[in-house]
Amino acid sequence: MYYIDPHIHMVSRTTDDYETLAKMGCAALSEPAFWAGFDRGSVDGFRDYFRQLTEVEPRRAAQYGVQHYTWLCINAKEAENVSLSREVIAMIPEFLDRPNVLGIGEIGLNKNTKNEATVFLEHMELAARHDEQILIHTPHLEDKYQGTRMILDMLCGDSRIDRSRVLVDHVEEHTAGHVLDGGFWAGMTLYPVTKCTPQRAADIIEIYGPERLMVNSAGDWGPSKPTAVPDFILEMRRRGHPESLIRRVVYENPLEFFRQSRRFEFMPPDVAAEAAVGA
Ligand SMILES: [Zn+2]
Repeated sequence: MYYIDPHIHMVSRTTDDYETLAKMGCAALSEPAFWAGFDRGSVDGFRDYFRQLTEVEPRRAAQYGVQHYTWLCINAKEAENVSLSREVIAMIPEFLDRPNVLGIGEIGLNKNTKNEATVFLEHMELAARHDEQILIHTPHLEDKYQGTRMILDMLCGDSRIDRSRVLVDHVEEHTAGHVLDGGFWAGMTLYPVTKCTPQRAADIIEIYGPERLMVNSAGDWGPSKPTAVPDFILEMRRRGHPESLIRRVVYENPLEFFRQSRRFEFMPPDVAAEAAVGA
């Protein structure tokens, strides 16, 4: 089955991982800008990172027939530095017309601080002004519930934000309902240590149904598994769910969400293969 991983950090992964993903049926992926494991010192550090996301990774992915998309921002961890964050936000429009950019993300909160909220609101302003989609990181563990409520309040407080163009990621049992009830899309992250397991994600689909829900690996430089979406597919099959339901969650839903970006030009892998043969 073809699938799309809507959240994975390929700058931290090897080329072998691209090959494995392609063999597993990964047709496309999207890579939000995130924390590199250390705080970057200047706006030029981010400019180089955005070049990597918009120039280098799409080429690396294309070698294996995987379509690469991305989202740009300064993440919540580095948002404590408000002046650097403002420089990065002012620089992002340089990259907004790159063909693989889907929008602004992953913005969000980490420790739910005042500075993080300030920078979140300024990213929201940028997205509204440029009519961009938004991908959101919600905090970990004990900060998740409170942080998710703060984020939803900020989003709902701005009438320019179209909720059907916002994906709120890393939802769990106690936050998925709030996100979906608000009219947003929700992403479940399948992580070996924290966040959701494939079993818990399948439970959440059984509770809420497939509408506006997707799953991702959020594979990065830490303990994570880039092939976590196929694990979810296997778990759903094990439970006897129809292929049409599984395909909706792992393929059609991300497509429907991404298609709202004016730069998203997806070619299904079978069509791409036929085009290559015909050429
Ligand atoms: Zn991430």
